[in-house]
Amino acid sequence: MSLDGTYDDGNIFARILRGEMPAARVFEDDHVYAFMDVFPQARGHTLVIPKHSTARNLLDAAPEIVGPLMLGVQRVARAVRAALNPDGLVVTQFNGAAAGQTVFHLHVHIIPRWEGVALGRHGAGGMADMADLKAMAAHIAAKLS
Ligand code: 5GP
Repeated sequence: MSLDGTYDDGNIFARILRGEMPAARVFEDDHVYAFMDVFPQARGHTLVIPKHSTARNLLDAAPEIVGPLMLGVQRVARAVRAALNPDGLVVTQFNGAAAGQTVFHLHVHIIPRWEGVALGRHGAGGMADMADLKAMAAHIAAKLS
């Protein structure tokens, strides 16, 4: 899908938000929902999405969506750091298939990095075990402030 197009409310993140698909939830408030990526590129790979938006990407998003989304990203990234003590954190976001986007509901990746540990390939890793992801989600959630 290109940068242009209409929002498909059958996308996987919309289904997670509606409770139709399981997710390992880290955090939720009135604006955002954070959960573990099921094909993690690193241990602790977390996604943050707006709850009330039909933006497919950052370019589509209204200002009132972007502000709370980024505050949620910062809050969750701090908790990921506190939980896992990484050497660095990638915060990234893809717009359009040509840029690597595969799910067309606006989302931000938080990916912890450790010196000497290679980053898994985007969208090409194995599926994580849901029980493991839920344990990781709880570990991160315990560090939210
Ligand atoms: P994108 O490629 O659009 O930037 O990121 C989509 C992300 O969603 C990928 O990192 C992919 O691993 C993740 N993903 C795809 N399907 C699911 C799913 O069903 N559940 C969860 N938690 N993550 C998913």
